[in-house]
Amino acid sequence: MRMSKLYLPTLKEDPAEADVVSHKLMLRAGMMRKHSSGIYSYLPLGYRVIKKIEKICRKHMDNSEAQELLLPIMQTSKIWKDSKRWDKFGPLMIKFNDRKAREYCLGPTHEEVVTDLVRDEVRSYKDLPLNLYQIQTKVRDEIRPRFGVMRGREFIMKDAYSLDIDYEGLDKSYQAMYDAYERIFDECGLEAVAVEADTGAMGGKDSHEFMVLADSGEDEIAFCSHCDYAANVERATSKKTEIDFEVEAEAEKIHTPGIKTISELEEYLEVPAAKMMKAVAVVADGEPILALVSGEDELNEIKLTNYLQANELRAAEDKEFGELFNSVAGFIGPLDLDEVRVVADQRLKNMSGAIVGANEKDYHFKNVKSGRDFEVEAFTDLRSVRGGERCPKCDQGKLNIKDGIEVGHIFKLGTKYSENMGANYLDENGKAQPIVMGSYGIGITRLVAAAIEQNNDQYGIKWPQAIAPYQIIILPLGNDDSVQEKSEEIYQNLKAEGWEVLIDDRKERAGVKFNDSELIGVPLRLTIGSRSLENGVVEAMTRENNEKMEIELDNLPAKVKELFTKIS
Ligand code: ATP
Ligand code: MG
Repeated sequence: MRMSKLYLPTLKEDPAEADVVSHKLMLRAGMMRKHSSGIYSYLPLGYRVIKKIEKICRKHMDNSEAQELLLPIMQTSKIWKDSKRWDKFGPLMIKFNDRKAREYCLGPTHEEVVTDLVRDEVRSYKDLPLNLYQIQTKVRDEIRPRFGVMRGREFIMKDAYSLDIDYEGLDKSYQAMYDAYERIFDECGLEAVAVEADTGAMGGKDSHEFMVLADSGEDEIAFCSHCDYAANVERATSKKTEIDFEVEAEAEKIHTPGIKTISELEEYLEVPAAKMMKAVAVVADGEPILALVSGEDELNEIKLTNYLQANELRAAEDKEFGELFNSVAGFIGPLDLDEVRVVADQRLKNMSGAIVGANEKDYHFKNVKSGRDFEVEAFTDLRSVRGGERCPKCDQGKLNIKDGIEVGHIFKLGTKYSENMGANYLDENGKAQPIVMGSYGIGITRLVAAAIEQNNDQYGIKWPQAIAPYQIIILPLGNDDSVQEKSEEIYQNLKAEGWEVLIDDRKERAGVKFNDSELIGVPLRLTIGSRSLENGVVEAMTRENNEKMEIELDNLPAKVKELFTKIS
């Protein structure tokens, strides 16, 4: 491709709208442009990268005997009501009516469509197992679209759905996808790690996320320093012991004027946070709930949501402290809270002598004990782990917490969808059984951003060889006819050998050409100048490590091949 013809609007400066490096570079390198919040157009350079990733996905999906199809983006509300997720997805789903006032949504994911498809087609155990996949645009009206394509409202996903007769089959299908995902990320040149994950709105039991470690990642992952334990903090646990409260005195109301937070209380009462209970007022599907964790811990809202099996959980608003809890913001506590369910973190099992809010402005209680002063519905794991805590698996290592970008997610769904939607097969005895399902997603466009987060420097992108938009860029320098002719010859020869080559034939200064080639991150740059030609060499630079070398013209085809060993 000739740069003079390429639609490649690069930018010199960082765009104000971008915070993270991948977003900045995708805009600067002319890979994409914003259409609206979280919605992008992919320009030729960006789309080439997307197509390369899609190709790698297809290869490994096909190799594991998954079959590609294409499902509708526009989906009827009926199937979502059958699966009981029409409300559960909430405002994340774009819903609308057609001209006949029938309800539709734009697919945020496709479990329903697949289950609907097979419930009419799959008859017998002989039709299974199956794994069906597609690569398609998903629409999710994210509350906070950000970081460019990392969290978009419209994004491309590779999604696959496995259908088995039993859990043994599901385990096999799941493992096949787990292995395929490792190969996909590896071939893309990404370092991704599999971590235990929460199953969220998908339901089901086992689940792993594939994470690319990066400071800009929105997820936190706990890794053990000793064994292979790795889990999203949304679900990670640790060997944190129960707290012993020694005090056994009667509960007593104390005056704490204007003292609302745990740290203010610590200072005012000279009592460590571990001796206090943090009471968090939340509203789960409209119902007021009080969650208790130790004063030194943080409530994990995902764990609480899972325990409550709630669709939507949010912090109570100031006015709701009075309306729903009959309490006051800053002074809420579990005593005398009529008709409010109280759940507590398991570390608080033996609590006595704790300090809690008194549901009255400027007052707290001390020496509080559960079971005596108030009832707790359940003690369960409700806290987020912190770095330095002991590993729950090996009990020897310590947990380290790192930021990561979720590029893939696999779930064992089980029979949740098939049962809700009536997708059965007939077993060997002619008895109807629900199909056992799994679902598997890769965020293709997010993966582009993650690859840049992992591969960049101050000059721009350093594409891993396998997903680079072009493999080689030729920079003819100066106006010598010999340079132009030789550059053209090299360009044609390399193309003929099957390489994807750019030639910067623009009438630009050398500095501009160098800068653009580094910005767009083409793995191999060949600079053709009159002086080096006289010596029978071209100057080459590999973008991966900015290493410069001279290659003899005669040896060019062999050397190029050698430099691209990583591409299979
Ligand atoms: P997140 O927790 O980041 O919101 P999710 O768990 O809701 O993602 P899944 O339903 O597991 O996402 O979707 C499969 C994959 O699709 C994710 O692993 C991620 O790579 C990608 N993905 C999900 N939401 C977005 C988004 N808003 N923008 C870009 N990619 C996304
Ligand atoms: Mg996910």
